[in-house]
Order: sequence, then C-alpha cells, then structure tokens
Amino acid sequence: MKVIIVGGVAGGATAAARIRRLNEHAEITVFERSGYISYANCGLPYYIGDVITDPGELTLQTPESFFKRFHINMKIHHEVISIHPERKTVSVKNLENGEIFEEKYDKLILSPGAKPTQPRLPGVGIDKLFTLRTVEDTFRIKEYINKNHPKSAVLAGGGFIGLELAENLMELGMDVTIVQRPKQLMNPFDPDMASMIHNEMRKHGIKLVLGYTVEGFKEKDNGVEVLLKDNPSLQADMVVLAIGVTPDTVLAKEAGLELGIKESIVVNDRMETSVPDIYAAGDAVQVKHYVTGNDALISLAGPANKQGRIIADNICGGDSRYLGSQGSSVIKVFDMTAATTGINETNAKKSGLEVDTAIHAGLNATQLKDLDLAYAPPYSSAKDPVNMAGFMIDNIAKGTLKQWHLEDIDKISRDKSVVLLDVRTVDEFNRGHIDGFKNIPVDELRERISEIEKGKPVYLICQSGLRSYIASRILEGNGYETYNFSGGFRFYDAVVNDRALIERAYACGMDY
Ligand code: FAD
Repeated sequence: MKVIIVGGVAGGATAAARIRRLNEHAEITVFERSGYISYANCGLPYYIGDVITDPGELTLQTPESFFKRFHINMKIHHEVISIHPERKTVSVKNLENGEIFEEKYDKLILSPGAKPTQPRLPGVGIDKLFTLRTVEDTFRIKEYINKNHPKSAVLAGGGFIGLELAENLMELGMDVTIVQRPKQLMNPFDPDMASMIHNEMRKHGIKLVLGYTVEGFKEKDNGVEVLLKDNPSLQADMVVLAIGVTPDTVLAKEAGLELGIKESIVVNDRMETSVPDIYAAGDAVQVKHYVTGNDALISLAGPANKQGRIIADNICGGDSRYLGSQGSSVIKVFDMTAATTGINETNAKKSGLEVDTAIHAGLNATQLKDLDLAYAPPYSSAKDPVNMAGFMIDNIAKGTLKQWHLEDIDKISRDKSVVLLDVRTVDEFNRGHIDGFKNIPVDELRERISEIEKGKPVYLICQSGLRSYIASRILEGNGYETYNFSGGFRFYDAVVNDRALIERAYACGMDY
C-alpha cells in the first residue's frame, strides 16, 4: 500500500506515524511545503517571547529522526500542487530546485491546515506587518525584533494567537495594544468571563481597543500607522495580524472535492472526503459540533491529532469514527488561566438551548480516547494524557497491544521459552536494567531483527512504555508475538526500590 500525505505537522505527522505502527510494510511519503515537520505549532508565540529559547525545542522531529524511527519519507520543501483523482496521482514541486514530478498513491491524506485570514485592506503585505503560522514566520518575527528592537506593537485580533503574542511581546518589554472589532476578547467566552480576561490584560499593561474596526495600514519610516474606522489611527513599530484562520484548501477545491463552510473539506465520520481513497484531517476540514450537531470549523491541535489517528486506523482496515468537536481550549493569560468548552451562552441561546445545565458523560475506558480536551503549551500536550490513556486502552481492547505486568516478572525471568528484550538506548540500559534482558535500542531493531529468536514470544520493556510499544508493532509486523511491560522501567525501578527500602526499614526495626 502506498500512502501519500500532504502536510507534515499535526494531523499529517500523526497519521503517518500511526499507519507505520499498524502496518510495518506500507510505503509512506509525506510532502511538507515548509522546512519543518511535526513541530509544536502552539509553542511558536513562546519562542518569540523567549520562554522557549532553543529552536530545537520547537522542532522536536527532523525528517532524519522520523525516517530512523518510522521509515517514513518526510519530504520537506516539497509542495503538492495538484491532485489527479482519476489516475490516483499528485503533482509535486520541489521548492529547492523547481522540479515538478508526479507520484502515485493508493491512499491520499490531506492535512494542509489553515492560513491566517488576510483581509483585503490597504497596506496588507507591508514589511512591518506579520502573520504567524509556521516556524519560518516565527523566525521572521524574532529576527525583526532582534534587529530593530521595536518598542511597540499593535495586534489586530483578540483571539488565542493575539493574546498569546500580546503576553510574549509584553514580556520582551514592548508596549502592546490589541485592537478587536467585537467589544470583547476571546469570542468563544461569555462576555462576563471575557471581562476577567480584560482585567488581567489591563493589569499587566496591555492596552485594549475593543469595538474598533481596522481599516488599513500605512508604512511609516519609523513604524506602521494602523487606520481605524471613524477614529484616530494608532502608531506602532510593528503589527501582527491575527484575526482568524481560513482552511487552506485550494488543492481540494481544484480536485473537485466537496467543500463546506469557508471552503473547508467535507468529510464523513471516518474522515473520508467525497472522493474515494482521499481522506482529510485538521484545520482544513468541516466537523460536526458536538453540542449543537451543526457543521462547524474548529481549528485546534487536539482534533487534528485525533483525526489523523482515525484516518490511519481506517486506512489500515479498522473502523474508527470521529464523534465531533467540542471546541475545548485553554490559554494562559499572565497569572490567570482561561478555558472554555462547548458553546457560550450567546450561541446556546441562538440555538434555542437551555444554558443553565452542564455537560455530563457516562464513559467507559475506551471512550477516553474520544474526549475533547483543551491544550495550550503551558498546560498538557496536544496528545492529551487522558486521550493517550484512552488510545492505549483501545489498542489493548482491540488486541493491537498485549501487556505484561510487574507481577509476571518472576515467572518470565525463569522461562526459557520467551525472549526478554529491553529497547532503550545502550546508556539507559547500562544505568540499570532487569537481569536476563537483552538490549537492542528501538532505532536499531529493524537492522538487528535477526538477533531475535523466531517462534518465541518477546517480552519488551523500555523506560515509559512508548518505545517498547513501537518495538512491539515493528516485531508484530515481522511475524513475532509480543508483550509490552505496562509502566516501563521507570515504574519498575521506582516500585522495586520502594519495596527494598520498606523491607530494609522493617529489617532494621524502623517505624515507617
Ligand atoms: P498544520 O499543523 O498547520 O499543518 C499543515 C501543514 O501542511 C503546514 O506545515 C503546511 O506547510 C503544509 N501544507 C499545506 N499545504 C501544503 C501543500 N500543498 N503541500 C505540502 N505541504 C502543505 N491549537 C491548540 O489546540 N492549542 C494551542 O495552544 C494552539 N496554539 C497555536 C498557536 C499558533 C501560533 C498557531 C499557528 C496555531 C495554534 N494552534 C493551537 C492550532 C493548531 O496548531 C492547529 O489546529 C493544528 O496544527 C492543525 O493541524 P493540521 O494538521 O490541520 O495543520
């Protein structure tokens, strides 16, 4: 099976890695227009504000590391320029040398994301006006700040990106103003809740210009003039436009895929588009709102990651469904945390819903994978730990993963009919391991697979359980039966040391 993926960040990278975990032999190629893959989009404002100082922390994976672990071709600086569903190919442009070539697919996944909305206003496109979407945009803003030392910034737009940037630019010592057409920041919040955000922003010196409309921009020698409708203009050394995002779906449109709100891609609950063998995920797709049941656009990392995973399951013969988005999100506003889920009071009233109620759930463990949980970098991760627990339970329930536990250790360490394998690095192994385990690091497993005896169940361990899970999928894909240690060596070590301390204390007659 040959899988092509357009977009190598949240939805695309997740789908690619999950397909490999489910199918050791699929040929997977990801085309990514920018120079980076699988990066923490949500950390970008924090790099600008020097909270994250190492660019390496933004880009955790490289094409090389991805290939080493997953055998997936990540082709950066490659833009897919058209889709030909009738012959199941895509045309791709190598942005480094201009070469255009055609590539065949059996399954195509689109996860191209959304682009910053660019209003047709005079002055959009001038040098000191920035938008923030990619790592390259981030470096551009950071370079401008480092070189020009701007003292003031206007942020057009008071949503998540505007607020995160405001705080980060303020922390750099800049004078920051947010202009927003509605009379509140953060539209998903009820106005009374937004008031608390406003107070917190003002308390930290951010100027709020609420209920004002930006009409255009004029470049000045010493900065930018921000033109406001019916009001005097604002002056700043730089401007960031963050008034929302628009699905980046030109490819899908030209290929004749059915489109919905703001030309987003229409998908069913298996994330299949209207054209056979083409799937789509993330900010580019139209979803069902979990509360209202209406069509909606929800641009958040959690849904994109989940949808990528669902596509991978379905491509690999499963039947996973996306239940809809609840719009759960969270943001740090200086010393305050603001979070929202579902719909706000205004929208509930518009939909004719009673608002003085709560969202209740009666869940079983596998349903944890479907929870729509909030994420921003200071809190949690895009693959939320609760969802991750649900994913793991789902894998166990479906038989994709079998486990072994601490209480099995005495039995298996005496059993000559099993293979014991520790897949951590050599250094980690040397710092401590369980007697009887052989060490082959996960990234060397494919090359050294002949060292593992066939026909015997393989009992795996790593530090936390993640690498041994990947190892189990590699081995299962090559005909082995595997069991993964639940909790990892870190858990084993902590429990065994704790028990030893307790035993020693008893032996010495200490009173714990
Ligand atoms: P993306 O992750 O944007 O990936 C799309 C990729 O496709 C891009 O890299 C693009 O270059 C590539 N691409 C597009 N077209 C082509 C083509 N034709 N050929 C090749 N490559 C192509 N969400 C949260 O939940 N919490 C947050 O705190 C948060 N903070 C954010 C902060 C910022 C600054 C930004 C920009 C977004 C933030 N988000 C946050 C939103 C979150 O990052 C997105 O919802 C998520 O990344 C969407 O995933 P995706 O796979 O649809 O698109």
